[in-house]
Amino acid sequence: MEFTWNEEQQAFRDKLRAFLDAELPADWEAFSQHGPASPALTKFAAEFCRKLADNGMLFPHWPVEHGGQGLDPWHQQILAEVMWEYGEPRGGQYMNVNWIGPTLMRYGTPAQQAHYLPQIARGEMLWCQGFSEPDSGSDLASLRTRAVLEGGHYRINGQKIWTSYAGLADTCFLLTRTSDDRKRGITILLVPMDTPGITVRQIPSLIGEGDIHEVFFDDVIVPIGQRFGEEGQAWEIIGYSLTNERLGIPRYHLARTALDRAVAMLKDRGDWRGEIVKAEAGRCAALCEGARTANYAIVQKRSEGLGVGPEASSARFATIMAERAVCEFVVEFVPEALADASPYLKMHHQRGIVAGIASGAAEIQLNIIAGDVLELPREPR
Ligand SMILES: Cc1cc2nc3c(=O)[nH]c(=O)nc-3n(C[C@H](O)[C@H](O)[C@H](O)COP(=O)(O)OP(=O)(O)OC[C@H]3O[C@@H](n4cnc5c(N)ncnc54)[C@H](O)[C@@H]3O)c2cc1C
Repeated sequence: MEFTWNEEQQAFRDKLRAFLDAELPADWEAFSQHGPASPALTKFAAEFCRKLADNGMLFPHWPVEHGGQGLDPWHQQILAEVMWEYGEPRGGQYMNVNWIGPTLMRYGTPAQQAHYLPQIARGEMLWCQGFSEPDSGSDLASLRTRAVLEGGHYRINGQKIWTSYAGLADTCFLLTRTSDDRKRGITILLVPMDTPGITVRQIPSLIGEGDIHEVFFDDVIVPIGQRFGEEGQAWEIIGYSLTNERLGIPRYHLARTALDRAVAMLKDRGDWRGEIVKAEAGRCAALCEGARTANYAIVQKRSEGLGVGPEASSARFATIMAERAVCEFVVEFVPEALADASPYLKMHHQRGIVAGIASGAAEIQLNIIAGDVLELPREPR
């Protein structure tokens, strides 16, 4: 099978690249090392997303009734690839565009849609995702942050951890426990981060300043209207959200671009010789392209209106392997890139080293493949 972009898709990619080339500052590659959730990049991203919105490039894949252009999943993938190729100048706002917006459209009340969607569409909002807890990461259904309904409001007590963007976010997409049923006892609340009783503590991180946090909830009160979906509906809703989130992050493309840069550096300095470096580069390229193909198979299914099943875990695992391989290649063959020789490769490394733990552990993807693809027996829970 030969895969090529059609003329219109190629023109869309070219238009996005031309926009980024014109709008990103000359020192963008060095600047992007601030880290995706740093105050500097968050401030930059807010201005940049407004420009994208003004030029119809922030959410062209959203439906027309919500201000988008109704473009298909291939365009969404092209948009995401180009953004990641340039080091994701949208910062944390990629979440709004990829999954929070679409999830609001599907599950939000008319009041929630009217309140949040226009702000997201103007590139003004920053969310954080309050899922993981100290003892509930891979086993998310064991989460314990409690929300108790008291008349017209919920009272929240508990703790989240590893929460990206929490220091600067306006609103938290928060998973809470409202009953003891493992999965059907989880409820989503949309919590303004300036609500009294919320304490945010930054955790130092290699990805950069402001990346991950602990978030404490002590008698935090939110009105019942901030509940998202029904009580106990969170598991269904996040199943939908996470598929969108993971598809919206084409890290295989960033990894492939980083690999090409690393090879170019080796060629420039006359070190592109010998079997080992070439074999390793070939292995990395094969992993990147394998991951690309696995991701494209899913985009194709979505563009045909079909549901996505456990193949999403295969695509994610392939992407994790590609990212890890390229990180290792750079450390092995062009380590000076991680000092100051290549801001781009340093940026890739900062984002790539968390592959296989952020957005869900690699081993969990393997468990899903073992159970749902290979139909191997599961451990009773
Ligand atoms: C940079 C970064 C950003 C993040 N941002 C957010 C965020 O914004 N919001 C949020 O809610 N969370 C966030 N996370 C948390 C992330 O989702 C969790 O780290 C991840 O789900 C793993 O959970 P854990 O850290 O509790 O590790 P654990 O679940 O304790 O896993 C530790 C190790 O044990 C393995 N393991 C666990 N269970 C199994 C099993 N059943 N079978 C085989 N192996 C297993 C895992 O694969 C892993 O290698 C972020 C994490 C990072 C690193």
